[in-house]
Amino acid sequence: MINIPKGTKDVLPSQSFKWQYVEETARKVAKIYNLKEIRTPVFEHTELFQRGVGETTDVVNKEMYTFFDKGGRSVTLKPEGTAGAARLFIENGLASSPMPLKAFYLTPCFRYERPQAGRLREFHQFGIEVFGSKEPETDAEVISAANMLLNELGVNGCQLQINSIGCPVCRAEYNKALKEYFRPQLKNMCATCNARFEQNPLRILDCKEEECKKITANAPKILDYLCPDCKDHFKKVQSLLKAQGVKYLINPNIVRGLDYYTRTVFEFVSTEIGAQGTVCGGGRYDNLISELGGAPTPAVGFAAGLERLLMVMENTGATIPEEQKPRVYLAGMDEKSRNKAVELAANLRANGINAEVDLMARSVKAQFKYADKIGAEFVAAIGETELESGAVNLKNMTNGESSAVKFKELCTYLKHN
Ligand code: ATP
Ligand code: MG
Repeated sequence: MINIPKGTKDVLPSQSFKWQYVEETARKVAKIYNLKEIRTPVFEHTELFQRGVGETTDVVNKEMYTFFDKGGRSVTLKPEGTAGAARLFIENGLASSPMPLKAFYLTPCFRYERPQAGRLREFHQFGIEVFGSKEPETDAEVISAANMLLNELGVNGCQLQINSIGCPVCRAEYNKALKEYFRPQLKNMCATCNARFEQNPLRILDCKEEECKKITANAPKILDYLCPDCKDHFKKVQSLLKAQGVKYLINPNIVRGLDYYTRTVFEFVSTEIGAQGTVCGGGRYDNLISELGGAPTPAVGFAAGLERLLMVMENTGATIPEEQKPRVYLAGMDEKSRNKAVELAANLRANGINAEVDLMARSVKAQFKYADKIGAEFVAAIGETELESGAVNLKNMTNGESSAVKFKELCTYLKHN
């Protein structure tokens, strides 16, 4: 027996309705915000992520599924959706379409991580990206879309935390201050943070090691180093969030795991699923498109992990509507009746009604038992009598009541009952 790879999950027939609900809700929110779907390949040239996500990030350093294909090219399974979306934007010349360009995606992502609750090697993201606007209205709109997604899904107890990590100008000043602060404490910090100190000190604020977290708590705060423009932008984002009734908390330690962010960064954090509490994260990335060779184009986006959303929903008792059960099961007693059942079911299906017949050559009694197990709403048996009279005795399985319904009226009856 060959097992499923570590860190991946099957979705079983009895569970898929939950996934469909989350995905349908995400699509609904996307529609309300006028976001158009994009689909990019599951694998891309490795360089896209090296440059797009950033060489100093954990994602690129430790977590990528990179391999050589048979043509000797280095390709990588997408660890996130933004780099591919940015490539799509540049490669297809979308800069010449009306701005802003508002897009969304639903995609599997792959990261070689240590699997645990809410941390998988294959997981799924719903993400949105808005290209072309540097205005704070865009940041606020993207955040409010994420907020609506969580509200629609009934994800309870999530807190929106926001921060600004400034632009390259103010961040240079801040990095200096960070280095001064961390230098004397480096010997007490993890090896990764020691490397980050040289390459990208901001990244240290993202460390999850207890010792490093303690030291980080008293580090200088980026918000004290923002240049006037970045300060103003952050202030406007906040007042626009307030205008929409979106509640938030400022958390100056949010820097996000990816390198391309500028100015606004945000996370929706849940206390309900333990350490892997971030269900959704995003921010502004004004330099990514130019970094990847496109004309400078500001952008904002977020990605939400579907597995984590579902975990919070299940842990907080959110209602997840189940799929429609079969409307009707038509049992056949003999060959002629079975043919009639198939004919009637075909007609019902053609009219959009979910109907079932026997596929297992079962006795009528066993067919009824099965119909009950699958939760059919109505059940009818067809035999010689029914063939002669051209009507069935349709039993409502919820209240036990039966009604005589003509074959040719079955469809109308089921549509109205
Ligand atoms: P974390 O800090 O938990 O590692 P991250 O900062 O690496 O998250 P992002 O790159 O921002 O995460 O991805 C956006 C969202 O995707 C996360 O908020 C989370 O919901 C989800 N996610 C990220 N990595 C995983 C994973 N390995 N398994 C399941 N979901 C994930
Ligand atoms: Mg991570």
